[in-house]
Amino acid sequence: MKPMTEQEIRSAFVNCSKGEAKRLHVPRDLVERPWDDLDFLGWRDPQAPDRAYLAAEFDGRTVAVVLRSSGAASWQARRSICSLCVTTHTGGVSLLVAPRAGKAGQQGNSVGAYMCADLACSLYVRGKREVGTRLHESLTVEEKIRRTVVNLTAFVSKVTA
Ligand SMILES: [Zn+2]
Repeated sequence: MKPMTEQEIRSAFVNCSKGEAKRLHVPRDLVERPWDDLDFLGWRDPQAPDRAYLAAEFDGRTVAVVLRSSGAASWQARRSICSLCVTTHTGGVSLLVAPRAGKAGQQGNSVGAYMCADLACSLYVRGKREVGTRLHESLTVEEKIRRTVVNLTAFVSKVTA
């Protein structure tokens, strides 16, 4: 993906207030991120472990989404599968919940999905970050990347719908 700037990310949030988008945690090391190997940028707030964020380009437009871990219980010890990249982890998958954009979100509607807790799906799919066990799949890396992007697009379109 194309590298993003802090300003670009902050102005792309679809499911929080403008004030929150200004204040929330954006990584300081954006220039050092492995953009060539990312399908989306995902990060957590080191000061607030229940907060997570992701940003990606959809149809030529940058969209960023605020996510929350739904409680400590979501850090499960059992094996779980990320719904975006379909990587199996033991204890490394979080149920992340995004308030829906606009009126729906104000009324408390949200969309949840199990995701890699560190939001590094792009790196797992490419084998750039290792997990203990990997389900054997007869898919090429390209196919896995495509599947991740399809899953991510479906999730984000539920948030913005
Ligand atoms: Zn994942």
